[in-house]
Amino acid sequence: MLVVMKAQATEDDIRAVCQKIESLGYRAHPLPGEQRTAIGITGNQGEVEMGTVEEMAGVQEIIRVSKPYKLVSRDVKPDNTVIAFHNSAATIGGSSLAVIAGPCAVENRDQAFKTAERVARAGAQFFRAGAYKPRTSPYSFQGMGEDGLRIMAEIRERFGLLVVTEAVDNESLELVERYADVIQIGARNMQNFSLLKRAGRARKPVLVKRGISATLEEFLMAAEYVMSEGNYNVILCERGVRTFADHARNTLDLTVVPAVQRLSHLPIIVDPSHGTGQRDKVTPLARAAIAVGADGLMVEVHHDPDRALSDGMQSLYPDQFDALMGQVRQIAAVLGRDIALVGATIPAAVSK
Ligand code: PEP
Ligand code: MN
Repeated sequence: MLVVMKAQATEDDIRAVCQKIESLGYRAHPLPGEQRTAIGITGNQGEVEMGTVEEMAGVQEIIRVSKPYKLVSRDVKPDNTVIAFHNSAATIGGSSLAVIAGPCAVENRDQAFKTAERVARAGAQFFRAGAYKPRTSPYSFQGMGEDGLRIMAEIRERFGLLVVTEAVDNESLELVERYADVIQIGARNMQNFSLLKRAGRARKPVLVKRGISATLEEFLMAAEYVMSEGNYNVILCERGVRTFADHARNTLDLTVVPAVQRLSHLPIIVDPSHGTGQRDKVTPLARAAIAVGADGLMVEVHHDPDRALSDGMQSLYPDQFDALMGQVRQIAAVLGRDIALVGATIPAAVSK
C-alpha cells in the first residue's frame, strides 16, 4: 500500500499520516519526490486496514502496490533517487556518472596509495578495495580486515576519494560502517537476509551487487530488504551472472540496466571487471555500460596487476584506466551526462 500525498501537503500533514499508519501497527516510509511525497507502508502480513487515512488532510489517494517490492518501485517514487554525500560533490543516480575504481583488495599501504593516486588523478570520485574478501577458496588471501579499513580512511583524507568497501557479515559491517562512505554487499551475500537487514539499519548508503544467478525480481527484493529497515540510499550493481558461456568469467547482463530503470527509482551501476573477469574485455564493456544508461561504473584497477593478490587478471593498468575515463567522458556527453569533478587534491610529491 502507498499513500500519495497532495503536492500542497504540509510537513505536518505528512507526519500525521505517518503517525496514523504506525498507530495501526505498520511501518511508514515517507519518500519525498519532486512533485509530492508518497508514504510506503510495510510490516503488514496480509491486507492493510487503512481506517480513516484516506480522509486525512493532504492525502490524495491510497494505491495498492501489487509488486512484491514496494519501496524500491517507481510506483512509490517516480523520480530517480540521487545519493549525495556530505563530504564530496559526488552523487550517484543524478546526471553525473559515479566512477568507483581501485584494486580488488587492500594488500598493503603502498599498493593502495599508489593505485588510489592514479584513480583519483584519472577522475574517479570513489575508491574501492576489499578489506574483507569473500574468496571461493579458504586458502586464498582473505583481506587485511580493520587495518585495510584504516588505510582506506587515510586515502579518503589524502585524495578526497569516497570509500566503497564490502562487509561480509554483521561483524565486519559494524567496522565497515564506521570507516567507509558506501557499504558494499557482495554477489555471494545478495540473499544473506540478516546482513541486508543489518545494512538497512546502517546510516551509510548500501551498494548491493547482483547475485551470481539472481533474477531481476530477486535483485530488487535484496534492495527492498535494505529499504524496509529504513535505509533508502541503495545502489544496485550489475556484475555479471553465470551462464553456459565460457568465454568470460561471467556474462555481463547489460539488459538489466534499462529493466531496473523501468521498475525502480534506484541508481544502477555496472561492474565490468567481475562481469567479464578478463582485462581486455573490461574497457569495451565499461563503454557499453555507460552507453546503455548505467549511472556509473565499478572498475578494478591495480598499480601492478601482475603481482595482485586477487583478481589481477581483470584489473586494469592505471594507463588503461586513464584511457577508459577519456572515452567514458565522451560517451557521457552524447547522453547529456558528465563525470563530476570532485576536486581531489593530489599532493605534488605523490603525483610525480
Ligand atoms: C568485489 O567487488 O571485489 C567482489 C568480490 O565482487 P562480487 O561480489 O561481485 O563478486
Ligand atoms: Mn575482485
